[in-house]
Amino acid sequence: MTTEPRLFPFVKQYYKKPLLVDRAKGCRIYDESGNEYLDAYAGVASVSVGHVNSRVNARVIAQIGKVHHTTMIYRTRPMEEYLTALQTVLGDRLTRHFFVNSGSEAVDFACQTARARRNRPLIISFSEGFHGGTYLGKSATGLPAWQPAFGGDPNIHFHPIEPCRSCEEAKFDPRAKRFSPLSIDCSAHCLNDLETILHVRGGETAAVLIEPVLGVGGILTPSAGFFKRLTAICRTNEIDLICDEVQTGFGRCGGDLFAFRRIGFEPDILCMAKGIANGFPLGLVSATEDAVRGMADKLHFCTFGGNPVSCAAADETLKILLEERLAEHSAEIGERLMKNLSDTLFDVDAVLEIRGLGLMIGIEMADPALAANIHENAYGRGLLIGLGGRRRNTLRIEPPLVFTAADADQTVDLLVAAIREETSRA
Ligand code: PMP
Repeated sequence: MTTEPRLFPFVKQYYKKPLLVDRAKGCRIYDESGNEYLDAYAGVASVSVGHVNSRVNARVIAQIGKVHHTTMIYRTRPMEEYLTALQTVLGDRLTRHFFVNSGSEAVDFACQTARARRNRPLIISFSEGFHGGTYLGKSATGLPAWQPAFGGDPNIHFHPIEPCRSCEEAKFDPRAKRFSPLSIDCSAHCLNDLETILHVRGGETAAVLIEPVLGVGGILTPSAGFFKRLTAICRTNEIDLICDEVQTGFGRCGGDLFAFRRIGFEPDILCMAKGIANGFPLGLVSATEDAVRGMADKLHFCTFGGNPVSCAAADETLKILLEERLAEHSAEIGERLMKNLSDTLFDVDAVLEIRGLGLMIGIEMADPALAANIHENAYGRGLLIGLGGRRRNTLRIEPPLVFTAADADQTVDLLVAAIREETSRA
Protein backbone atom coordinates (compact mmCIF):
# COMPACT_ATOMS: atom_id res chain seq x y z
CA MET A 1 0.00 0.00 0.00
CA THR A 2 1.57 3.33 -0.99
CA THR A 3 -0.78 5.79 0.72
CA GLU A 4 -2.45 5.07 4.03
CA PRO A 5 -6.10 6.03 4.54
CA ARG A 6 -6.64 8.65 7.23
CA LEU A 7 -8.72 7.02 9.96
CA PHE A 8 -10.19 8.87 12.91
CA PRO A 9 -7.32 9.91 15.19
CA PHE A 10 -8.38 7.61 18.04
CA VAL A 11 -7.68 4.51 15.89
CA LYS A 12 -4.46 3.31 17.48
CA GLN A 13 -3.34 0.20 15.68
CA TYR A 14 -1.17 -2.29 17.55
CA TYR A 15 2.62 -2.24 17.16
CA LYS A 16 5.12 0.43 16.16
CA LYS A 17 4.95 -0.87 12.60
CA PRO A 18 1.34 -2.15 12.40
CA LEU A 19 0.75 -5.61 11.00
CA LEU A 20 -0.62 -5.51 7.45
CA VAL A 21 -2.65 -8.70 7.30
CA ASP A 22 -2.74 -10.50 3.99
CA ARG A 23 -4.38 -13.83 4.82
CA ALA A 24 -5.07 -16.22 7.66
CA LYS A 25 -5.84 -19.90 8.26
CA GLY A 26 -6.78 -21.67 11.48
CA CYS A 27 -4.70 -20.08 14.25
CA ARG A 28 -2.14 -18.44 11.95
CA ILE A 29 -2.09 -14.99 10.32
CA TYR A 30 0.29 -14.05 7.46
CA ASP A 31 1.50 -10.60 6.41
CA GLU A 32 2.21 -9.51 2.84
CA SER A 33 5.82 -10.65 3.05
CA GLY A 34 4.66 -14.14 4.01
CA ASN A 35 5.71 -13.83 7.69
CA GLU A 36 3.67 -16.15 9.91
CA TYR A 37 2.14 -15.14 13.25
CA LEU A 38 0.57 -17.35 15.89
CA ASP A 39 -2.78 -15.72 16.58
CA ALA A 40 -3.56 -15.82 20.30
CA TYR A 41 -6.08 -12.97 20.04
CA ALA A 42 -8.55 -14.18 17.35
CA GLY A 43 -9.64 -10.78 16.03
CA VAL A 44 -10.36 -9.69 19.62
CA ALA A 45 -11.89 -12.97 20.75
CA SER A 46 -14.15 -13.41 17.72
CA VAL A 47 -12.75 -16.04 15.35
CA SER A 48 -14.00 -18.93 17.46
CA VAL A 49 -13.60 -21.89 15.07
CA GLY A 50 -10.47 -20.61 13.30
CA HIS A 51 -9.65 -18.26 10.45
CA VAL A 52 -11.07 -19.08 7.02
CA ASN A 53 -12.89 -22.09 8.42
CA SER A 54 -13.81 -24.18 5.39
CA ARG A 55 -17.22 -25.31 6.75
CA VAL A 56 -18.31 -21.80 7.74
CA ASN A 57 -17.07 -20.38 4.46
CA ALA A 58 -18.92 -23.03 2.42
CA ARG A 59 -22.20 -22.13 4.19
CA VAL A 60 -21.57 -18.41 3.68
CA ILE A 61 -20.80 -18.82 -0.02
CA ALA A 62 -23.87 -21.04 -0.56
CA GLN A 63 -26.09 -18.51 1.25
CA ILE A 64 -24.74 -15.52 -0.70
CA GLY A 65 -25.72 -17.38 -3.87
CA LYS A 66 -29.32 -17.80 -2.60
CA VAL A 67 -30.27 -14.57 -0.82
CA HIS A 68 -28.06 -12.22 1.13
CA HIS A 69 -30.42 -9.62 2.63
CA THR A 70 -34.10 -9.38 3.51
CA THR A 71 -34.55 -7.74 6.95
CA MET A 72 -36.80 -9.39 9.52
CA ILE A 73 -40.02 -8.33 7.80
CA TYR A 74 -39.81 -11.77 6.08
CA ARG A 75 -38.89 -15.18 7.41
CA THR A 76 -35.64 -16.84 6.30
CA ARG A 77 -34.43 -20.39 6.87
CA PRO A 78 -30.93 -19.47 8.13
CA MET A 79 -32.37 -17.27 10.88
CA GLU A 80 -35.02 -19.80 11.95
CA GLU A 81 -32.73 -22.82 11.77
CA TYR A 82 -30.14 -21.00 13.79
CA LEU A 83 -32.54 -19.95 16.53
CA THR A 84 -33.98 -23.48 16.72
CA ALA A 85 -30.47 -24.91 17.14
CA LEU A 86 -29.47 -22.24 19.65
CA GLN A 87 -32.62 -22.79 21.71
CA THR A 88 -31.66 -26.40 22.38
CA VAL A 89 -28.41 -25.09 23.83
CA LEU A 90 -29.93 -22.17 25.75
CA GLY A 91 -32.62 -24.29 27.42
CA ASP A 92 -36.17 -23.17 28.16
CA ARG A 93 -35.59 -19.96 30.10
CA LEU A 94 -34.20 -17.48 27.55
CA THR A 95 -36.80 -18.00 24.83
CA ARG A 96 -37.23 -14.57 23.18
CA HIS A 97 -34.63 -13.36 20.68
CA PHE A 98 -33.72 -10.25 18.73
CA PHE A 99 -30.87 -10.00 16.20
CA VAL A 100 -28.70 -6.88 15.95
CA ASN A 101 -25.42 -6.01 14.22
CA SER A 102 -22.90 -5.98 17.04
CA GLY A 103 -22.14 -6.44 20.71
CA SER A 104 -22.62 -2.75 21.46
CA GLU A 105 -26.05 -2.77 19.92
CA ALA A 106 -26.96 -5.94 21.83
CA VAL A 107 -26.10 -4.27 25.16
CA ASP A 108 -27.88 -1.06 24.19
CA PHE A 109 -31.04 -2.97 23.26
CA ALA A 110 -30.85 -5.14 26.40
CA CYS A 111 -30.75 -2.01 28.61
CA GLN A 112 -33.71 -0.52 26.74
CA THR A 113 -35.62 -3.79 27.19
CA ALA A 114 -35.04 -3.79 30.96
CA ARG A 115 -35.99 -0.13 31.30
CA ALA A 116 -39.20 -0.76 29.37
CA ARG A 117 -40.16 -3.76 31.51
CA ARG A 118 -39.44 -2.14 34.86
CA ASN A 119 -40.47 1.34 33.77
CA ARG A 120 -37.46 2.58 35.69
CA PRO A 121 -34.34 4.33 34.33
CA LEU A 122 -31.33 3.29 36.39
CA ILE A 123 -28.79 0.73 35.14
CA ILE A 124 -26.20 -0.50 37.65
CA SER A 125 -22.92 -1.27 35.95
CA PHE A 126 -19.38 -1.95 37.20
CA SER A 127 -16.27 0.20 37.41
CA GLU A 128 -14.13 -2.07 35.20
CA GLY A 129 -16.87 -3.07 32.77
CA PHE A 130 -16.78 -2.51 29.00
CA HIS A 131 -20.03 -2.57 27.04
CA GLY A 132 -19.36 -1.15 23.59
CA GLY A 133 -19.37 1.88 21.38
CA THR A 134 -22.99 3.06 21.16
CA TYR A 135 -23.93 5.98 23.37
CA LEU A 136 -25.62 3.74 25.96
CA GLY A 137 -22.86 1.12 25.68
CA LYS A 138 -20.19 3.77 26.31
CA SER A 139 -22.28 5.33 29.07
CA ALA A 140 -22.52 1.95 30.81
CA THR A 141 -18.77 1.38 30.45
CA GLY A 142 -16.89 2.00 33.69
CA LEU A 143 -13.42 2.37 32.17
CA PRO A 144 -12.90 6.14 31.81
CA ALA A 145 -10.90 5.91 28.55
CA TRP A 146 -13.91 4.39 26.77
CA GLN A 147 -16.63 6.67 28.10
CA PRO A 148 -18.53 9.16 25.87
CA ALA A 149 -16.80 12.41 25.00
CA PHE A 150 -19.39 14.82 26.40
CA GLY A 151 -21.08 13.17 29.35
CA GLY A 152 -22.94 9.89 29.31
CA ASP A 153 -26.48 8.76 30.00
CA PRO A 154 -27.09 10.13 33.54
CA ASN A 155 -29.02 7.05 34.66
CA ILE A 156 -26.06 4.76 35.17
CA HIS A 157 -24.59 3.95 38.57
CA PHE A 158 -21.14 2.32 38.77
CA HIS A 159 -20.30 -0.15 41.49
CA PRO A 160 -16.58 -0.81 42.10
CA ILE A 161 -15.09 -4.18 41.21
CA GLU A 162 -12.62 -5.04 43.95
CA PRO A 163 -9.62 -7.24 43.09
CA CYS A 164 -10.42 -10.63 44.63
CA ARG A 165 -6.76 -11.30 45.34
CA SER A 166 -6.76 -8.66 48.08
CA CYS A 167 -9.82 -10.23 49.75
CA GLU A 168 -9.20 -12.55 52.70
CA GLU A 169 -11.86 -14.99 51.60
CA ALA A 170 -10.03 -15.67 48.32
CA LYS A 171 -6.90 -16.91 50.12
CA PHE A 172 -4.80 -15.79 47.15
CA ASP A 173 -1.26 -17.10 47.20
CA PRO A 174 0.91 -14.37 45.59
CA ARG A 175 3.75 -16.85 45.05
CA ALA A 176 1.53 -19.10 42.95
CA LYS A 177 0.30 -16.04 40.97
CA ARG A 178 -2.69 -18.05 39.86
CA PHE A 179 -6.26 -17.21 40.64
CA SER A 180 -9.31 -19.38 40.02
CA PRO A 181 -12.74 -17.72 40.47
CA LEU A 182 -14.72 -20.96 40.37
CA SER A 183 -13.17 -22.33 43.54
CA ILE A 184 -14.34 -19.38 45.63
CA ASP A 185 -17.84 -19.59 47.02
CA CYS A 186 -17.39 -16.38 48.99
CA SER A 187 -19.95 -14.24 50.80
CA ALA A 188 -19.25 -11.38 48.35
CA HIS A 189 -19.13 -8.70 51.03
CA CYS A 190 -17.85 -6.40 48.25
CA LEU A 191 -21.54 -6.19 47.27
CA ASN A 192 -22.67 -4.85 50.67
CA ASP A 193 -22.68 -1.27 49.37
CA LEU A 194 -24.77 -2.27 46.38
CA GLU A 195 -27.44 -3.59 48.71
CA THR A 196 -27.36 -0.35 50.68
CA ILE A 197 -27.72 1.70 47.49
CA LEU A 198 -30.65 -0.41 46.36
CA HIS A 199 -32.45 0.23 49.69
CA VAL A 200 -32.54 3.84 48.56
CA ARG A 201 -32.57 3.60 44.74
CA GLY A 202 -34.22 0.20 44.17
CA GLY A 203 -37.45 1.89 43.10
CA GLU A 204 -35.69 3.61 40.20
CA THR A 205 -33.45 0.70 39.13
CA ALA A 206 -34.19 -1.37 36.04
CA ALA A 207 -31.19 -3.67 35.75
CA VAL A 208 -27.72 -4.74 36.75
CA LEU A 209 -25.37 -5.13 33.76
CA ILE A 210 -22.24 -7.27 34.03
CA GLU A 211 -19.77 -9.40 32.06
CA PRO A 212 -19.09 -12.85 33.64
CA VAL A 213 -15.41 -12.17 33.01
CA LEU A 214 -14.58 -8.49 32.47
CA GLY A 215 -12.51 -8.69 29.28
CA VAL A 216 -11.42 -5.19 28.25
CA GLY A 217 -11.20 -4.34 31.98
CA GLY A 218 -8.27 -6.80 32.20
CA ILE A 219 -9.80 -10.32 32.26
CA LEU A 220 -11.13 -9.76 35.78
CA THR A 221 -12.83 -12.81 37.22
CA PRO A 222 -15.31 -12.12 40.01
CA SER A 223 -15.95 -15.28 42.02
CA ALA A 224 -18.85 -17.71 41.76
CA GLY A 225 -19.98 -16.43 45.17
CA PHE A 226 -20.10 -12.88 43.79
CA PHE A 227 -22.50 -13.89 41.01
CA LYS A 228 -24.62 -15.95 43.39
CA ARG A 229 -25.15 -12.97 45.66
CA LEU A 230 -25.58 -10.53 42.75
CA THR A 231 -28.38 -12.71 41.35
CA ALA A 232 -30.06 -12.87 44.77
CA ILE A 233 -29.86 -9.06 45.09
CA CYS A 234 -31.48 -8.65 41.66
CA ARG A 235 -34.32 -11.08 42.48
CA THR A 236 -35.03 -9.49 45.88
CA ASN A 237 -35.18 -6.00 44.39
CA GLU A 238 -37.10 -7.13 41.27
CA ILE A 239 -34.52 -5.84 38.83
CA ASP A 240 -33.21 -7.58 35.71
CA LEU A 241 -29.80 -9.18 35.52
CA ILE A 242 -28.28 -8.45 32.10
CA CYS A 243 -25.36 -10.68 31.30
CA ASP A 244 -23.01 -9.29 28.66
CA GLU A 245 -21.51 -12.43 27.10
CA VAL A 246 -20.36 -10.60 23.98
CA GLN A 247 -16.78 -11.65 24.71
CA THR A 248 -17.22 -14.61 27.07
CA GLY A 249 -19.87 -16.49 25.08
CA PHE A 250 -19.78 -19.40 22.66
CA GLY A 251 -17.26 -21.52 24.50
CA ARG A 252 -14.58 -18.92 25.16
CA CYS A 253 -14.70 -19.48 28.94
CA GLY A 254 -14.65 -23.25 28.59
CA GLY A 255 -16.79 -26.06 29.98
CA ASP A 256 -20.03 -24.71 28.54
CA LEU A 257 -21.06 -22.51 25.62
CA PHE A 258 -21.91 -19.76 28.10
CA ALA A 259 -19.91 -18.49 31.06
CA PHE A 260 -23.04 -17.83 33.12
CA ARG A 261 -23.68 -21.57 33.12
CA ARG A 262 -20.08 -22.47 33.92
CA ILE A 263 -20.13 -20.03 36.83
CA GLY A 264 -23.67 -21.03 37.82
CA PHE A 265 -26.14 -18.14 37.68
CA GLU A 266 -29.24 -17.27 35.64
CA PRO A 267 -29.52 -13.94 33.79
CA ASP A 268 -32.82 -12.45 32.62
CA ILE A 269 -31.28 -10.98 29.48
CA LEU A 270 -28.25 -12.30 27.60
CA CYS A 271 -26.13 -10.29 25.11
CA MET A 272 -24.11 -12.13 22.45
CA ALA A 273 -21.88 -11.19 19.48
CA LYS A 274 -18.15 -11.64 18.63
CA GLY A 275 -17.64 -15.45 18.52
CA ILE A 276 -21.27 -16.12 17.57
CA ALA A 277 -20.57 -16.26 13.81
CA ASN A 278 -16.78 -16.73 13.70
CA GLY A 279 -16.21 -13.04 12.98
CA PHE A 280 -19.08 -12.39 10.58
CA PRO A 281 -21.07 -9.43 11.94
CA LEU A 282 -23.97 -10.49 14.13
CA GLY A 283 -25.32 -9.65 17.57
CA LEU A 284 -28.14 -11.29 19.48
CA VAL A 285 -30.16 -10.57 22.60
CA SER A 286 -32.01 -13.48 24.24
CA ALA A 287 -34.34 -12.92 27.17
CA THR A 288 -37.01 -14.52 29.31
CA GLU A 289 -40.69 -14.15 28.45
CA ASP A 290 -41.11 -11.82 31.43
CA ALA A 291 -38.13 -9.65 30.54
CA VAL A 292 -39.48 -8.73 27.09
CA ARG A 293 -42.98 -7.71 28.24
CA GLY A 294 -42.23 -4.00 28.32
CA MET A 295 -41.24 -4.05 24.65
CA ALA A 296 -44.56 -5.56 23.52
CA ASP A 297 -46.10 -2.24 22.49
CA LYS A 298 -42.88 -0.56 21.32
CA LEU A 299 -41.51 -0.34 17.78
CA HIS A 300 -37.92 -1.36 17.20
CA PHE A 301 -36.12 -2.31 14.01
CA CYS A 302 -32.65 -3.31 12.81
CA THR A 303 -32.13 -3.36 9.03
CA PHE A 304 -29.22 -5.81 8.99
CA GLY A 305 -30.40 -7.77 12.07
CA GLY A 306 -30.83 -11.48 11.29
CA ASN A 307 -28.90 -11.14 8.03
CA PRO A 308 -29.17 -14.56 6.31
CA VAL A 309 -25.45 -14.77 5.51
CA SER A 310 -24.44 -13.95 9.10
CA CYS A 311 -27.06 -16.38 10.42
CA ALA A 312 -25.75 -19.15 8.13
CA ALA A 313 -22.25 -18.44 9.50
CA ALA A 314 -23.62 -18.54 13.07
CA ASP A 315 -25.47 -21.81 12.42
CA GLU A 316 -22.37 -23.55 11.07
CA THR A 317 -20.20 -22.08 13.84
CA LEU A 318 -22.59 -23.49 16.46
CA LYS A 319 -22.59 -26.92 14.76
CA ILE A 320 -18.77 -26.98 14.80
CA LEU A 321 -18.60 -25.78 18.43
CA LEU A 322 -20.91 -28.61 19.47
CA GLU A 323 -19.62 -31.41 17.20
CA GLU A 324 -15.99 -30.70 18.04
CA ARG A 325 -16.80 -30.13 21.74
CA LEU A 326 -14.84 -26.88 21.61
CA ALA A 327 -16.12 -25.59 24.98
CA GLU A 328 -14.57 -28.63 26.67
CA HIS A 329 -11.45 -28.18 24.53
CA SER A 330 -11.29 -24.51 25.55
CA ALA A 331 -11.35 -25.51 29.25
CA GLU A 332 -8.61 -28.09 28.69
CA ILE A 333 -6.25 -25.89 26.64
CA GLY A 334 -6.97 -22.91 28.91
CA GLU A 335 -5.98 -24.99 31.93
CA ARG A 336 -2.78 -26.09 30.17
CA LEU A 337 -1.91 -22.46 29.41
CA MET A 338 -2.70 -21.28 32.95
CA LYS A 339 -0.69 -24.07 34.54
CA ASN A 340 2.35 -23.70 32.29
CA LEU A 341 2.31 -19.91 32.59
CA SER A 342 2.08 -19.94 36.38
CA ASP A 343 4.66 -22.75 36.71
CA THR A 344 7.08 -20.74 34.57
CA LEU A 345 6.39 -17.20 35.77
CA PHE A 346 6.06 -17.78 39.53
CA ASP A 347 9.48 -16.20 40.15
CA VAL A 348 8.88 -13.04 38.07
CA ASP A 349 8.00 -10.25 40.50
CA ALA A 350 6.66 -8.01 37.73
CA VAL A 351 3.86 -10.55 37.10
CA LEU A 352 1.15 -9.84 39.67
CA GLU A 353 -1.51 -12.37 38.78
CA ILE A 354 -2.51 -14.92 36.14
CA ARG A 355 -6.25 -15.41 35.90
CA GLY A 356 -9.05 -16.35 33.57
CA LEU A 357 -11.56 -18.94 32.48
CA GLY A 358 -11.04 -21.27 29.51
CA LEU A 359 -9.34 -19.48 26.64
CA MET A 360 -9.78 -16.04 28.17
CA ILE A 361 -6.58 -15.50 30.12
CA GLY A 362 -5.03 -12.36 31.57
CA ILE A 363 -1.51 -11.84 32.88
CA GLU A 364 -1.50 -8.72 35.02
CA MET A 365 1.84 -6.90 35.03
CA ALA A 366 2.82 -4.41 37.71
CA ASP A 367 3.77 -1.77 35.15
CA PRO A 368 1.85 -0.64 32.02
CA ALA A 369 5.04 0.39 30.13
CA LEU A 370 6.49 -3.07 30.74
CA ALA A 371 3.25 -4.68 29.54
CA ALA A 372 3.41 -2.59 26.34
CA ASN A 373 7.02 -3.63 25.72
CA ILE A 374 6.19 -7.30 26.24
CA HIS A 375 3.26 -6.97 23.83
CA GLU A 376 5.59 -5.51 21.17
CA ASN A 377 8.36 -8.01 21.93
CA ALA A 378 5.93 -10.94 21.51
CA TYR A 379 4.94 -9.55 18.10
CA GLY A 380 8.61 -9.50 17.09
CA ARG A 381 8.70 -13.22 17.97
CA GLY A 382 5.60 -13.93 15.86
CA LEU A 383 2.99 -14.03 18.63
CA LEU A 384 -0.18 -11.91 18.58
CA ILE A 385 -1.85 -11.18 21.92
CA GLY A 386 -3.96 -8.32 23.34
CA LEU A 387 -3.74 -5.72 26.08
CA GLY A 388 -6.38 -4.64 28.58
CA GLY A 389 -7.11 -3.25 31.99
CA ARG A 390 -7.78 0.25 33.31
CA ARG A 391 -4.01 0.87 33.20
CA ARG A 392 -3.49 -1.32 30.11
CA ASN A 393 -1.18 -3.48 32.17
CA THR A 394 -2.80 -6.86 31.51
CA LEU A 395 -1.67 -9.11 28.64
CA ARG A 396 -4.66 -10.86 27.08
CA ILE A 397 -4.57 -14.37 25.57
CA GLU A 398 -7.84 -15.15 23.74
CA PRO A 399 -7.02 -17.42 20.79
CA PRO A 400 -9.42 -19.25 18.45
CA LEU A 401 -10.99 -22.15 20.36
CA VAL A 402 -9.36 -24.61 17.93
CA PHE A 403 -5.98 -23.75 19.50
CA THR A 404 -4.05 -27.00 19.89
CA ALA A 405 -1.87 -28.12 22.81
CA ALA A 406 1.14 -27.43 20.58
CA ASP A 407 -0.16 -23.89 19.87
CA ALA A 408 -0.61 -23.35 23.62
CA ASP A 409 2.93 -24.57 24.37
CA GLN A 410 4.36 -22.36 21.62
CA THR A 411 2.45 -19.39 23.10
CA VAL A 412 3.96 -20.03 26.53
CA ASP A 413 7.48 -20.39 25.08
CA LEU A 414 7.25 -17.15 23.07
CA LEU A 415 5.51 -15.13 25.76
CA VAL A 416 7.76 -16.26 28.60
CA ALA A 417 10.81 -15.39 26.46
CA ALA A 418 9.31 -11.93 25.79
CA ILE A 419 8.49 -11.39 29.49
CA ARG A 420 11.95 -12.51 30.65
CA GLU A 421 13.74 -10.33 28.11
CA GLU A 422 11.70 -7.22 28.90
CA THR A 423 11.78 -7.66 32.69
CA SER A 424 15.56 -8.12 32.63
CA ARG A 425 15.84 -4.88 30.64
CA ALA A 426 13.46 -2.92 32.90
N1 PMP B 1 -19.47 -5.97 25.37
C1 PMP B 1 -18.30 -6.59 25.61
C2 PMP B 1 -18.14 -7.37 26.87
C3 PMP B 1 -17.24 -6.49 24.70
O1 PMP B 1 -16.08 -7.09 24.97
C4 PMP B 1 -17.44 -5.76 23.51
C5 PMP B 1 -16.34 -5.62 22.48
N2 PMP B 1 -15.05 -5.64 22.96
C6 PMP B 1 -18.68 -5.14 23.30
C7 PMP B 1 -19.67 -5.26 24.25
C8 PMP B 1 -18.94 -4.36 22.04
O2 PMP B 1 -19.04 -5.24 20.96
P1 PMP B 1 -18.91 -4.71 19.47
O3 PMP B 1 -17.51 -4.21 19.28
O4 PMP B 1 -19.25 -5.91 18.62
O5 PMP B 1 -19.90 -3.64 19.28
